[in-house]
Amino acid sequence: MERYLRQTLFAPLGEAGQRLLQRGRVLIVGCGALGGTVADLLVRAGVGKDDGRITLLDPDVVQLSNLHRQVLFTEEDARQGRFKVEAAQKALLQADQAANLEIFPVRFDESNLSMVADFDVLVDATDNFPTRFLMNRAAVKYGKPFVTAGIAGASGQTVTILPGVTACLECFLQAVEEIQENIIPVLGPLPQIFGAMEAMETIKILSGCLDAVNRSLLTFDLWGNRTHRFEVVRSVDCSVCKEP
Ligand SMILES: [Zn+2]
Repeated sequence: MERYLRQTLFAPLGEAGQRLLQRGRVLIVGCGALGGTVADLLVRAGVGKDDGRITLLDPDVVQLSNLHRQVLFTEEDARQGRFKVEAAQKALLQADQAANLEIFPVRFDESNLSMVADFDVLVDATDNFPTRFLMNRAAVKYGKPFVTAGIAGASGQTVTILPGVTACLECFLQAVEEIQENIIPVLGPLPQIFGAMEAMETIKILSGCLDAVNRSLLTFDLWGNRTHRFEVVRSVDCSVCKEP
């Protein structure tokens, strides 16, 4: 346990929580800036190492324009046009060669949505709302905690959804069907912060510390130095999480 000494000394986690982390099964959808940071921190925390796994889904290849914010990737990955999930796996195994990683160079869509049933936590590291809302539906359908974050420019927001307990994404945001074609600007430090927050939420959930989970919509504007917390409530008419 020497490797995890500094985190097991944190009383709410402790050695019992650490054992739970190592059995955790986490699905991270998107392996760019957010996903890379989440995966890196979870691998380093020992998540999935014993009887669990960390699964990464992303159909894209590494490009030069990714490197200012996607910290797992190198110029060589971009030159070779490697799949992000393959380049990420290589980098993550350098952090811990015993990590249990599973990678799929595919999009998360209706055809593979049922895979959510085999995980303990679902992490949104996508860059688009249609996938995010699809993940929300899958999380509610299979009753899986869903950690979500969205970023653009120098601002972002995050909330954790506990199906049957908290509001779901659809309760307070309207689903968007269209994939936005425009390239979204983003500054490099932003996904590091939101990815770290998503990793922390995942650690709380896997270790059973649900009381500590962030149930509000938290927003940070890192350029304007503003933060806000919005309480979100379940909509009784929600088309996704309304109980029959
Ligand atoms: Zn809902």
